[in-house]
Amino acid sequence: MRILIVEDETKVASFIKRGLEEEHYAVDVAEDGKEAVELVDSYDYDLAILDIMLPELDGLSVLSHIRSVGKSTPVILLTAKDMVEDKVKGLDMGADDYLTKPFAFEELLARIRVLLRRGKPEESLKLSIADLVLDPVTHKVTRDGNKISLTAKEYSLLEYLLRNQGRVLTRTMISEHVWDIKHDTFTNVIDVYINYLRNKIDKGHSKKLLHTIRGVGYKLEE
Ligand code: CA
Repeated sequence: MRILIVEDETKVASFIKRGLEEEHYAVDVAEDGKEAVELVDSYDYDLAILDIMLPELDGLSVLSHIRSVGKSTPVILLTAKDMVEDKVKGLDMGADDYLTKPFAFEELLARIRVLLRRGKPEESLKLSIADLVLDPVTHKVTRDGNKISLTAKEYSLLEYLLRNQGRVLTRTMISEHVWDIKHDTFTNVIDVYINYLRNKIDKGHSKKLLHTIRGVGYKLEE
């Protein structure tokens, strides 16, 4: 899943970016509001973390832009301690959650997981198809109860496929949601990773889950 961080304090931004990448998210950073709007217009992010106090264009204006173009991307606002008014305004404008700085990174992660679950009940935090199960909290993946070891990218790819199971996903969609802006190219890297993943999740099982849709892309389906 690909996340946009909008934060002008370089230290905070790189701290969050590093932490999220360790959790296997693809991450882009915008350092001001204008850059954030450009990125939001160019890519389909799965979630945005938006600082309110920003140069060029403040966080609330970025949020208002996201909603005005009809995007329902979940947004977490980062606010300073004494800005109660901003929090209320932000939530009224369509933010999904907020965190007051300084915050514990674990709390940010938990809130991200809640928003990516999007209103699904608590027990469905784990993602699954047939006998394949992915736990986004522990990052454990099993098929038929047997543990599967995945690299960070294979894991992200599987998470994206699982969250969109039954849908045909094009290489462009996969590249947008699993890779960050530095890897935003049309190479065969996606096919290579799909093959790695297929070997790990389908090999030796009679029921195949990962399907190639010729000329279009890939689909995870029973
Ligand atoms: Ca700031």
